[in-house]
Amino acid sequence: MKNIAILGATGSIGINTLDVISRHPDKYNVFALSANNSWEKMEKLCIKHMPEFAVMANEDAAESLRKVVPNGVTVLQGEGALNAIASHQNTDFVMAAIVGSAGLPSTFAAASSGKRLMLANKESLVLGGNLLINAAKISGAELIPVDSEHSAIFQCLQGGKEGLNKIQLTASGGPFLQTPSAELSKATPKEACNHPKWKMGRKISVDSATLMNKGLEVIEAHFLFQLSPSQIEVVIHPQSIIHSFVYFDDGSVLSQLGMPDMRSAISYALSYPSRQTSGVEALDLTKQAPLEFLPPDMDKFKCLGLAYDALEKGKSAPGTLNAANEVAVEAFLNKNIGFLDISTAIEKTLAIAPISTLDTIARVVENDRLSRQITQSVIEQSLL
Ligand code: NAD
Ligand code: MG
Repeated sequence: MKNIAILGATGSIGINTLDVISRHPDKYNVFALSANNSWEKMEKLCIKHMPEFAVMANEDAAESLRKVVPNGVTVLQGEGALNAIASHQNTDFVMAAIVGSAGLPSTFAAASSGKRLMLANKESLVLGGNLLINAAKISGAELIPVDSEHSAIFQCLQGGKEGLNKIQLTASGGPFLQTPSAELSKATPKEACNHPKWKMGRKISVDSATLMNKGLEVIEAHFLFQLSPSQIEVVIHPQSIIHSFVYFDDGSVLSQLGMPDMRSAISYALSYPSRQTSGVEALDLTKQAPLEFLPPDMDKFKCLGLAYDALEKGKSAPGTLNAANEVAVEAFLNKNIGFLDISTAIEKTLAIAPISTLDTIARVVENDRLSRQITQSVIEQSLL
């Protein structure tokens, strides 16, 4: 029996993880759950799954939850509590599914304490890639990707990396794949969040619409698989059936296919190296639309190019890119800026922010804070 801590349990990945776990009560025990401030959702999860710990990031939400949780569930609050459940001696596996840089400290806590780290929170790799990879190496933590493309590559590399030439991350292209560039300035948060293939949280949905999600994934792949930027390509594949490709020197290409349902990747992270049922519908290619592949339009979707540039620059640049993106996406979701302003705000931030070496988590956090300030002022100035 493995004890599971789910960080970000009320989100899209968190709920899908609980769905897979519920199918295997003989293998997994829900040990700890966390959420930001949605205590009513957390109350329902506590009644259903009876974790030992429920952690709320928000203090008032923790107070409200404390009044209603069933006996046996201990409610904790704040970042320290998140780190404590991620590194708790009784925790075996940690699902890191908090959205954004808020997930970094707890992801790092899991990586530093020898857990199986099931990584959905790609932002923490973008922010502190080498630090996270090294922490996992030192502690003996297993780092298993949950992002569907990286899970696909991880699965294709079970025979080893020898002879690997390059990888290709597939991208659905998002809701604006067919939208003319001239119309993008009018795109609304509702339209941006209406992803054609995947049901996800709002931030990653906007990232998919700008292709920043793929940019973050290029950086994620660089750290996870230790590949140079030139070895990581992106191909648009609107049907989202093939979840990525690995090209080898002998001309062979391996890929992993499946329905666009995150439970496959989540299930594999849980059951690795074996497999189990996940609730995902079986793929029948005769019933699918023809599979298409096309190059990304880098002029229309500027965020992808910005991510490659940041990766080439290295050091603090990927962290700055991520911070600027989080601030800009939130401003877009709050209707303070337009869709195309997202890439402009990121580009301007990258041009202003100093580049520094981030060799401690404290420096990573400081760079994140500083970069957010810069983006905030870039946005405020352009609004004047
Ligand atoms: P979501 O918005 O649906 O859920 C986010 C979760 O994080 C919620 O439980 C929320 O309560 C918690 N949270 C938010 N802010 C927090 C804070 N400041 N402190 C503590 N907890 C906080 O997001 P999601 O779509 O589930 O995505 C989660 C992560 O997984 C992201 O990093 C995303 O990029 C990655 N991911 C998601 C998908 C997907 O299909 N949804 C696919 C691949 C990768
Ligand atoms: Mg992905």
